[in-house]
Amino acid sequence: MNSPAPAVLQALEALSAKYPSVPMEAILKQDLLRLGVGFSEDSLRIATGFKPKDYFIFSFDLSTLEDLEKAGAHLLKAPEEVRFFGGPYLLQPTIFNVRLSPTSPYQVGIGEGKLQLFLGQVQLAEVEYHPVPPFYQSPLQSGKKISEIAPVLEWGYLVYLTLYRLCQYWGKDEECQFCDINENYRQQKKAGREYTGVKDLSDILEALETINRLDTAKTTQAITLTGGSITGLLNHKTELDFYLDYARPIFERFGDRWILKAVVEAFEKADCQRLYTEGGVRIYHPNYEVWDQELFKRLCPGKERFVGYNRWMRRIVESAEVFGPDHVIPNFVGGVEMAAPYGFGTVEAAVESTVLGLEFFMSKGILPRFTTWCPEPLSALGSQPPPPLEYFVYLLKRYKECFTHYGLKVPPGYGQAGLGKAVFSVSAFMDVLAP
Ligand code: SF4
Repeated sequence: MNSPAPAVLQALEALSAKYPSVPMEAILKQDLLRLGVGFSEDSLRIATGFKPKDYFIFSFDLSTLEDLEKAGAHLLKAPEEVRFFGGPYLLQPTIFNVRLSPTSPYQVGIGEGKLQLFLGQVQLAEVEYHPVPPFYQSPLQSGKKISEIAPVLEWGYLVYLTLYRLCQYWGKDEECQFCDINENYRQQKKAGREYTGVKDLSDILEALETINRLDTAKTTQAITLTGGSITGLLNHKTELDFYLDYARPIFERFGDRWILKAVVEAFEKADCQRLYTEGGVRIYHPNYEVWDQELFKRLCPGKERFVGYNRWMRRIVESAEVFGPDHVIPNFVGGVEMAAPYGFGTVEAAVESTVLGLEFFMSKGILPRFTTWCPEPLSALGSQPPPPLEYFVYLLKRYKECFTHYGLKVPPGYGQAGLGKAVFSVSAFMDVLAP
């Protein structure tokens, strides 16, 4: 079989020439997120002290754990995030989240005695892995690890608290079709890993005390509170009360040491007010996943059934009255609107549909952000290839244009924006915004 690498390199260069407003760093980052990356055994052996993947919510891999193990057990120790820089394109330092794929044309290996990102035989850039934070080794009284209870992402900027690692949108008729949260939970348990379904508040508070004490440089700046949807009750609590019962004591104990973000249901305004006032939540992520209404119904059947498209979008808009529009940052899953069998057939149609959503929200001062769809094999949409790279490049171009048109500011809670500075690792939206 011919290596796909020369064709991939040609595509990178052609898109860079076609879309001069999107930097090569952002194009390469999107391709790494889209196609995933592999690691040679050497590249993981010579590096020390890096933070491995914590599987903080979804698998975000293009292979199952079982297949990864078959391809090479070293892959199970791969880093969470990698920063590439330099190389023949003189790339500025750019961070991407690792989505493992042993067959990806992108491989990290050793070249000239250093860690390098290869595309076939071409050394594209040097790389480094995110170091283990100073507090990671401290055990909790329960015996659990901080990495399991309060992992960090975004090069240490964000503490990510997945409080409930399942979702009560059960099965293929309710789960978002791109999401493997429930399947990932099962595969982690099956692999014998420590993987806590519902986290104890005492573990969370102890972990945050430790982070607060040992993170003297104050690298961690934000906390995300999240987990799957709760359609009934969990521990006798509704979704709002379940998440508030973590947010409230964190806010009471630590005040504004970290900015609190919540990735939860699109709630009615009165419930949003409780999140803000009682829980100290300052950034609200009622993720709408996909803008097109028909696709929303198909791809998010649980959200459609329990809330509904129109109500979901109305609630996003109304939540701006509580948090302030610039603190409402709903996510969409970039590229999923091209997923077969219902998705758009062309890049332009897919992006322009998504831009209608951007216009709708950005004209109201609300700034959607996006993550990069990764066809996780255990999700309902997992058996198909990712969308074309041009989708992401064109999306970044249009995103930036809308952002500029509406005179918006860089969102709070995401660290710095701009090439060489952005830490958000699951799409390049922060890399392309002006600092
Ligand atoms: S709401 Fe959808 S995306 Fe979120 S955890 Fe549940 S199934 Fe996954």
